[in-house]
Amino acid sequence: MSRKQKWYQDGLHFTCTQCGHCCSGAPGYVWVTKEEIVRIARFLERDDDRLAEHQVRRVGLHFSLTERANGDCVFLTRSNGATGCAIYPVRPLQCRTWPFWSQNLAARTAWDSAAAGCPGMNCGKFYSVGLIEAIRTTRRTEELPVTP
Ligand code: SF4
Repeated sequence: MSRKQKWYQDGLHFTCTQCGHCCSGAPGYVWVTKEEIVRIARFLERDDDRLAEHQVRRVGLHFSLTERANGDCVFLTRSNGATGCAIYPVRPLQCRTWPFWSQNLAARTAWDSAAAGCPGMNCGKFYSVGLIEAIRTTRRTEELPVTP
């Protein structure tokens, strides 16, 4: 492999099965920008462009969505054994770009480790290295490339 080549030069496969694993479990952060908070608040038809106190928390200079006591993301829905996202059309960039995060793409071992908890990785739709890199480096939802 040349210096410029990525280990995923030949592309990767991913299709979310909507199992909900990544939206529950161990505590973590789902970072949201102020812009994303406004977008979510409007989607939820709140009239103050804010989220409720139980939906978002400040972490230093940043904001994160909250979790319920059972570890579920506050916006994870469960109904008749099926999971879903209550804000799917306006979900944060962090959720949109999974699993093409820099830490997952740093090495094949990191990718495989993440895949152990995400049944959507390594199967389904094909992502070329160019598309993966575009997703990995996007900083704003508006700049995300069209995905398969
Ligand atoms: S763990 Fe993977 S397959 Fe399951 S909901 Fe999250 S992204 Fe989708």
